[in-house]
Amino acid sequence: MMRQALIAGGGIGGLAAALSASRAGWDVRLYERAAAFSEVGAGVQLGPNVTSVLHGWGLKDALARVAAFPPRLQVRDAVTGRELGVLPLGERALQKYGAPYATIHRADLHALLLQAVQAQGNVWLNLNTCVASYADSGREVTLQTEAMAASPLVEAPDARPVGAAPLVQVEGDVLIGADGLWSRVRTQMLNDAPPRITGHLAYRAMLPQTSLPARLRSQQVTVWLGPRLHVVHYPVRGGEWLNVVAIVQGQVKGDLQSWDHGANGADLQNSTQFTAVMLRDLIQAVTDGAHETGPPWRLWPLCDRPPMSGAHQQARGRVALLGDAAHPMRPYLAQGAGMAIEDAAELGSALAQALDPTLDVATLLQRYALNRWERNARVQARSQRNGQIFHARGPLRWGRDVSMKLLGEKLLDLPWLYGATARAL
Ligand SMILES: Cc1cc2nc3c(=O)[nH]c(=O)nc-3n(C[C@H](O)[C@H](O)[C@H](O)COP(=O)(O)OP(=O)(O)OC[C@H]3O[C@@H](n4cnc5c(N)ncnc54)[C@H](O)[C@@H]3O)c2cc1C
Repeated sequence: MMRQALIAGGGIGGLAAALSASRAGWDVRLYERAAAFSEVGAGVQLGPNVTSVLHGWGLKDALARVAAFPPRLQVRDAVTGRELGVLPLGERALQKYGAPYATIHRADLHALLLQAVQAQGNVWLNLNTCVASYADSGREVTLQTEAMAASPLVEAPDARPVGAAPLVQVEGDVLIGADGLWSRVRTQMLNDAPPRITGHLAYRAMLPQTSLPARLRSQQVTVWLGPRLHVVHYPVRGGEWLNVVAIVQGQVKGDLQSWDHGANGADLQNSTQFTAVMLRDLIQAVTDGAHETGPPWRLWPLCDRPPMSGAHQQARGRVALLGDAAHPMRPYLAQGAGMAIEDAAELGSALAQALDPTLDVATLLQRYALNRWERNARVQARSQRNGQIFHARGPLRWGRDVSMKLLGEKLLDLPWLYGATARAL
């Protein structure tokens, strides 16, 4: 008999899980509270550990059509502009890790996963449907969903606006909580504290390279490190657009759950006024772009959780967490979405074994959690530490710069991270 996986959340993690579970032979019902499948206008870096999973799912050509493949990553001092270190990517990543280092618009990554999911035939996608709670009886898991508004894809034919919405029950063999940083599934499963406010803010912008003066256009990943700030930029959309993210220390008023606060370019210019001319010029050029295409900067308050402490935080009974719901992290290793995709690959491997009716589904989810939690915890911890090193002042900054000069590529290359190949079923 075909087994049913229920998935809460249709972000990068939820779609990757739907793809992997359906490839493992499961029927999948995915519930997304938003009215449309979409992603914020920002970029994402994907290490070879992640692109190898996407290749394994048959998405190599789809990825090659929309991503950029930067030839190198350059680290620079944000104040002096001096080069601190370089990691060759391009061919070298391919040769060393067997898969490329890619940079991609989130919407493009999301769209290629969605297309692959839709081609599967055994996935039911439900928009406008908020996952409210679940019950795990030990023999099955029952999901309570709340229809938020009418949609052609919504399963409940009588879906009504929030407030008047009826609760709809759905039964399945497993529930995967891929509902992000503020996950309801996690709250019910672990009942732990809310995410931590990091005190870091991400200003993000994306613009056509042609809208920039030639000397500011770039096809590489550049990371500028400065006291209490850093800036990362890289190409997306086949290299035609530039994604720029500036992280500064500060607080934001308003909804912490929103990734899309309005941002004042003048505040960012103020925070970066002591940086190198080229960096200031880039920020100025992006800010000036406002006159043509609307306000270019959006603001993202960053939250995280402490590194995972055990497999019990990733699966209990017939319920498992995946992606930011399980291990939200600071973006300083550029691996949050990557770990969600790796989780999904591992989940698919676990679920494939459940097709034998004698095997206990809860045990397989437990295996999934055991195989994932330590790596996720390590990436969370390393991301947090990178934030301290990136924003260092005084002796720590001096030590960082000296080690980068002496060790350069050795420090920047991370075989334990990029070389681990998740099983892409
Ligand atoms: C500034 C910044 C830069 C980053 N850069 C990188 C990078 O370069 N590389 C990288 O790998 N990662 C990066 N990340 C991390 C990455 O963005 C996240 O880890 C990733 O998007 C998490 O995906 P997810 O699917 O787990 O969660 P989300 O993207 O949060 O998706 C959760 C989904 O669930 C839905 N949902 C929520 N609650 C419910 C509910 N109750 N019912 C139904 N649906 C629900 C939401 O609407 C959403 O669609 C970055 C993050 C930031 C902030």
